[in-house]
Parts: sequence; C-alpha cells; structure tokens
Amino acid sequence: MQFTRLRLRGFKSFVDPAELVIEPGMTGIVGPNGCGKSNLVEALRWVMGETSAKRMRGGEMDDVIFAGSSRRPSHNLAEVALNLDNGSRTAPAQFNEMAELDVVRRIERDKGSTYRVNGREVRARDVQLLFADQATGANSTALVSQGRIGHIINAKPAERRHLLEEAAGIGGLHSRRHEAELRLRAAESNLERLDDVISTLE
Ligand code: ATP
Repeated sequence: MQFTRLRLRGFKSFVDPAELVIEPGMTGIVGPNGCGKSNLVEALRWVMGETSAKRMRGGEMDDVIFAGSSRRPSHNLAEVALNLDNGSRTAPAQFNEMAELDVVRRIERDKGSTYRVNGREVRARDVQLLFADQATGANSTALVSQGRIGHIINAKPAERRHLLEEAAGIGGLHSRRHEAELRLRAAESNLERLDDVISTLE
C-alpha cells in the first residue's frame, strides 16, 4: 500500500485546510524552525491510530486541536485524512475490496476521536490493525522521532524485540492473538458460570 495524499484541518498549527500529495519515491519537507514539519509527521502517526498524547508532544489528546494564535481563535475540531493506494490488495479483508482507501480521524474537544474508512465509521482498532499489518502504523520503526534512537539504545530486550516484530509486520498478529486470548478467557468464565447454574438446577 502506498500513501498518496495527506489532508489536515485544524490539526496543530495547520489551522486552514492543507493538502500534501505524496508522490512515489522520496518526499522531503523543508522549512524554517517551527513551521510545522514535525506536526506533519505527527499527523501521519495520529491518523494511523496513535493513542499516546505524550508521543504527540501534548498533555492530552485534545492538544492536537488548533489552540489559537494572536490573530485566530482556537478550534474545537481537528481532522486528518490519509489516502492509500490499495492496488496491491494487501489491506485486511474488511477493506480489501477497495482499490483506494480514505482513512479519516477526527477529534472534537471533550468528545474524543472517531475514525472513518471510505465514509464508513470503524473502530480505532480496525485502523490500527490496517496499518500494523503493513509494518507501518503509529509505532512503526519507519517513523523516527527526536530522541527515539537514544531510547532504542537504552531499551530493555523485550522492548527491542517488540520493535523488531513491528518492523517484520507481525505486530498485528500479536495484537489479534491477544484479543483472541481475552475472548477465550471470557468464554471460559461464561462456561464456568453456566456449570454453576446447571448444578444449582440439578
Ligand atoms: P523544528 O525544525 O524546530 O523541529 P518544526 O518545523 O518541526 O520545527 P513543529 O514542531 O512541527 O515545527 O511545529 C511547532 C509549531 O506548531 C509551534 O509554533 C507550535 O506553537 C505549533 N503548534 C503545536 N501545537 C499546536 C496547536 N495545538 N495549536 C496551534 N499551534 C500549535
């Protein structure tokens, strides 16, 4: 899958709607200090399902919404949309019918985030798995933020293994296994309760 377009509205310093066309090959973003280069990369991370406000350099997730400036009032809504070329048909089954995917995350102040894929509302989990299966996503090793190299050098072995698994594209499988284990445990406890009910009836 190829990223083809990124659209931002009310996200951090991008108060006016902005669009970035991502051509095949290498894309460079240049500009003076504080012009929003890191905010663009954070927008990518955010639309892929980032859950940590700290990793978005904020105290809470609402901090990604334009906070106002000396000339403009703050906003109550931010939206980031990422277009993906799924011509290779490598998206998870629920999205694989579509040759192009439009993944949108929107946040409203005090109301949290919602996600849509091609106009249909989906869970955060669906979007996170969509990207985890492509060895990308909010925690992808392809996104190297400031201080990350030092963090990896000092990481514990289990944490480093997690990074290698992300890079190998099996993060989504681990996550699905964890979900399956939780469901299995819930089913087992339901069965135990059923046994109790049956024994009281006998
Ligand atoms: P550098 O080259 O110094 O790393 P940069 O181009 O990466 O800079 P960013 O860190 O992306 O710049 O952008 C910082 C700017 O974004 C600051 O001016 C900051 O005030 C602004 N900013 C961050 N969050 C918000 C927000 N919620 N609302 C308004 N502006 C914001």
